[in-house]
Amino acid sequence: MEKRIARFTLEGVPDARITMHPFTTEDGLGLHLTRFHRADCDDVVLLLHGLTASSDMFIMPEHRNFTTFLLDEGFGDVWALDFRMSSRFPYDAETHRYTFDDIADWDFPAALAELRSHIGDRRVHVVAHCTGGIAFSMSLFGGAVEGITSFTSNSVSLTPLPPAWSRVKLAIAPAAQEYLLGLPFLDPRFGHAPTLTRAWMLSRLVSLFHRECDVSACHMASFMWGSGHPALYEHENLLPVTHERMADLLAATGAHYYRHIRKMARAGHAVKFDPSDPRHADLPDDYLANAAEVTTPILFLAGDHNHVFPDSNAHCYGLLEKITPGLHEFATLPGYGHIDPFIGKNSHVDVFPKIVDFLKRKAA
Ligand SMILES: [Zn+2]
Repeated sequence: MEKRIARFTLEGVPDARITMHPFTTEDGLGLHLTRFHRADCDDVVLLLHGLTASSDMFIMPEHRNFTTFLLDEGFGDVWALDFRMSSRFPYDAETHRYTFDDIADWDFPAALAELRSHIGDRRVHVVAHCTGGIAFSMSLFGGAVEGITSFTSNSVSLTPLPPAWSRVKLAIAPAAQEYLLGLPFLDPRFGHAPTLTRAWMLSRLVSLFHRECDVSACHMASFMWGSGHPALYEHENLLPVTHERMADLLAATGAHYYRHIRKMARAGHAVKFDPSDPRHADLPDDYLANAAEVTTPILFLAGDHNHVFPDSNAHCYGLLEKITPGLHEFATLPGYGHIDPFIGKNSHVDVFPKIVDFLKRKAA
């Protein structure tokens, strides 16, 4: 039998001491950090995945992954967080009503407390993708975390601006999924559901509109997350093995997070889901309200083929440039889409050096 890449494997980072660090959130979820330690250094890097992905997107064995790249570049102490959106946990596929406020208020502060208990006051650089970038921006601009030396955000940050077709899907998907389909979650794996079940039929229906390849998980991921064929990446940027195991890298999720994204898209920037929720009274209703006080420099990354949040990071950079001129930076990634900057076969040539250059300058 041909050996396939194991799910949740750590084999992609062979030359480091790997340890797991569990912790709990204020609302009672068990999460964990994974530490990849090669050598002590003054600058620690913390990696944040996006929704339905996991820390796996930074440690894939089939390409030169970002964690290994950082270790080789002298950042010898790399930590990857799996927060409540991680496919390594069951939380996304359970019935839930989590919002980005929950993550900003409870996941990242708890993760940083655990991280600080190991690394003390050494510098922390955060690198995030997609919804991890939205939620961490909210933590940072909402004052829930502090002492971050630099922040790199790929695709989207405080201004999630989905394309028109995605806005339509954002508006109808949560209710359609929950009430019409009666499914607790959407899953790229639906193509392998038993024949004629609702899940199978949905996947077949989606595939009718996606003739660009023959991987049903790729079609479902496009359906769930964007407006494109495919929506999340450029096919030619991926190794075939990565494309074929997309359901391992992007898992199931309920659609409730869409409701918060829709609210933010309507407002034009990150806002609290429910300003009357007393559990998040410590967070601002408007996450841009205190933007002038944020001193952490941000590198905004944006593929010019992004079909999930096109121009969102350019817009966010432009907006913050008016508030704190010269503090933040923006870099276009030519030929890249939404997630391929991290999972692409040539990311180590086209993308990772730009991030490391930023980290090294901010580490000085
Ligand atoms: Zn495909």
